[in-house]
Amino acid sequence: MSKLKVLHMYADMLDLYGDSGNMEILEYRCKMRGIECDVEKYSIDSKMPDFSSYDLIYIGGGADLEQQHISTDLQKCRKGIESAYKKGVFLFLICGGYQLMGKYYKDADGNKIKGLGLFDYYTVAEPDRRKRCIGNIIIRTDFMGKSVDIVGFENHGGQTKGVKTPLGDVLCGHGNCTKSQHEGYFEKNVIATYMHGPCLAKNPEISDYIIEYCINRNTENKVKLLKLDDTLEKQCRQVMIDRLIKK
Ligand code: GLN
Repeated sequence: MSKLKVLHMYADMLDLYGDSGNMEILEYRCKMRGIECDVEKYSIDSKMPDFSSYDLIYIGGGADLEQQHISTDLQKCRKGIESAYKKGVFLFLICGGYQLMGKYYKDADGNKIKGLGLFDYYTVAEPDRRKRCIGNIIIRTDFMGKSVDIVGFENHGGQTKGVKTPLGDVLCGHGNCTKSQHEGYFEKNVIATYMHGPCLAKNPEISDYIIEYCINRNTENKVKLLKLDDTLEKQCRQVMIDRLIKK
């Protein structure tokens, strides 16, 4: 039986719009396939974990204040997270977590929070707080050779620039910046997105991409995931797509 070892970081601080639900979906979709999924939590003052011993590191989104609160502790984890990422551990990052893996996040008051600098992008918040990117969003992306339209909810002041490999093209909503054409950041073992929702509940393809990557990353005998019946999930998503994109 395969097993997934997950580290959920700062669940008590970075958890906007049901972001922790992503872990419930992951556990559920593993369970349906007989895959064991063990989610451990890490937060400020926890014992320093061996980041490389996990298959997946997950960080949710948070307000500027929470991002500031965790920033010193996050820097202490920099080496561990960087080396895990380089060894192929999957990073799944939502909004505030996404921003903090880049070079920096400068909030609306001009306070600069240092990021881990794993990636080249950087984020500067709109100084006018009324100009946040808020609302439902649809992006077109490619998973396992298939084009998929995924949906989520965004609420960020941060404008993320310098993204070389976005997650998808924006069909409706903002994305990385106000009225941007692109959303998120994507690498083989990284998905970073502004999509709350929770993202995995609305988009089963993303969960399955992550699970399949994780169970196959250390083995020669690659396994294809058992297909689940996602009729309801897809119907829900279609309702949102039809509502947002008038035909
Ligand atoms: N505080 C950040 C911003 O406003 C991130 C917000 C979030 O995680 N939703 O851009």
